[in-house]
Amino acid sequence: MAEECIFCKIVKGEIPSLKLFENNEVLAVLDIYPSTKGQAMIIPKQHYTHLYELPKETLFSLSEVVHNLSSVIPKSVNSLGLNIVLRMGPKAGQRVPHLAVQMIPRFEGDDKVVAIQWVPEQELQKDLQDVYKNIREELSKVVVVKKEDNIRPASVEAEPKKEEKKKEEAIKQEKEDFSSWLKRRIP
Ligand SMILES: [Zn+2]
Repeated sequence: MAEECIFCKIVKGEIPSLKLFENNEVLAVLDIYPSTKGQAMIIPKQHYTHLYELPKETLFSLSEVVHNLSSVIPKSVNSLGLNIVLRMGPKAGQRVPHLAVQMIPRFEGDDKVVAIQWVPEQELQKDLQDVYKNIREELSKVVVVKKEDNIRPASVEAEPKKEEKKKEEAIKQEKEDFSSWLKRRIP
């Protein structure tokens, strides 16, 4: 537990909080400086900075609480939507080096206080295959990845449609075969 960490202090009760839920692994509190009504924060009780550091049981608890609150909070505050934000690293806006999942209910006209958006960068499409390969390679060191998973370059978007059409035709053919078989069977 880090001495000066503000979230560790919340866990220890040294800083008062509005607790929504607590178990051995995680703590969910209502944000006392909310940007929108019902904004909440879920943190592991132990001091971890990154998501990948969480032990499985903590990760499971965290996911479960996020899952439950993702329906409870919007219902309670009558929001139109919900953003769930996790920030890792200062560049990503992590100000406290203690992992936190922010739940931000969204309302009409709240764009001036909440801005979560990104736009496609066309240039990056060139490197897509290399990036894909590198990530898959790294991923194969931690999980089993299936060989047949493969992406198509964005330029050949028509390809899956063609396959789908083939599938549809095959199903149609099957149905026709079946009905003609039925007709032959029924005297
Ligand atoms: Zn901490």
